[in-house]
Amino acid sequence: MPNFPEHIEKLQPYVPGLAINALAAQLGVDPSSIVKVASNENPLGTSKLALEALQKATQEFALYPDNDSLELTEALAKYHNVPREWIVVGSGSEAVLSMAAGALLTRGKKAVYSQYSFQAFAGAAQRVGASHAVVPSPDFRVNLDGLLASIDADTTLVYIANPGNPTGTFLSNEELEAFLSNVPPSVVVLLDEAYVEYLPVELRSPAIRWIHQFPNLMVTRTFSKAYGLAGLRVGYGIAQPEIADMLRRVRPPFSVTRLAQIAAAAALADTQFLAKTAECNAAGLAYLYTALNELKLEFVESFANFVLVKVGDGNALSQRLTQRGVIVRPLKSYGLNEWIRISVGSQSENETVVNALRQEINA
Ligand SMILES: *Cc1c(COP(=O)(O)O)cnc(C)c1O
Repeated sequence: MPNFPEHIEKLQPYVPGLAINALAAQLGVDPSSIVKVASNENPLGTSKLALEALQKATQEFALYPDNDSLELTEALAKYHNVPREWIVVGSGSEAVLSMAAGALLTRGKKAVYSQYSFQAFAGAAQRVGASHAVVPSPDFRVNLDGLLASIDADTTLVYIANPGNPTGTFLSNEELEAFLSNVPPSVVVLLDEAYVEYLPVELRSPAIRWIHQFPNLMVTRTFSKAYGLAGLRVGYGIAQPEIADMLRRVRPPFSVTRLAQIAAAAALADTQFLAKTAECNAAGLAYLYTALNELKLEFVESFANFVLVKVGDGNALSQRLTQRGVIVRPLKSYGLNEWIRISVGSQSENETVVNALRQEINA
């Protein structure tokens, strides 16, 4: 028998949501009739600039990609007005979160994050055998004082997603800045801004100013959500060179594909697509709120592209919605048995979701 380390034996495989094709086959319907609002993907598809760049790219794949994603890194450095050395590209921002764990955690070290945080935080810490402190969050908002209080001599990394997933809640810049001022400089704070593009401009963090001010801060962004590139796997972190360099050292070689690099560099300039995405999302959220109020379902106000809804038995309702061709995300794995998460879709998708919900709630 192979002798696996204890922390590896305790890992659970990642269980993604039901795939569209699998459900379509099961129900005997066309895949185009399935509505998947389970993974916070962009209902408008992919940035057109990214698609055009992909079409123009040489269809030649014999060579390895650029290990350092140089062109994308340069585009990002220019976009954020920071030196190239501050940028770490990864195969999704999830990979960057994992690199932070690889660089900062090991057995005996500790990661700190909030209850109802993005599951990848726990996974990244567990895979490297580190311990973790989960700070209670009864109101679904990250308890920053609680995070501070649980930082001890073993703590090397704090994970915060803002807005949070699956909660959709938001911490103000004032709250976060006060928190950053109080974190010991030896502890790295990874601020995951996967949904920043959905925030009104005035709420967005002064991320780059903070990184200048707090050398222990890393901010991560992704192309998976607002840019519509989840299928290509590309995201990045921004931090001062000391942290960025260490993360690059633990990044698996050639992990960001050439097509991902090309698409991301092109998508970055697609301000029109981002604006349309944010507009569609705001309208969709407003529509969902009205419908949820009518259905007398409790929900948490969201600053992202999904909404947390209290439905009783979340697993059972998700399964029943599935039978109606609607895939939502049950949240039992987050300890939120009574809640489901619904991603904002296109207007017609939102209507399908609401109709299915109405039929199930009134059934
Ligand atoms: C979706 C999401 C991401 C994005 O992950 P990728 O690996 O970039 O696709 C990161 N953080 C949070 C909190 C998310 O919800």
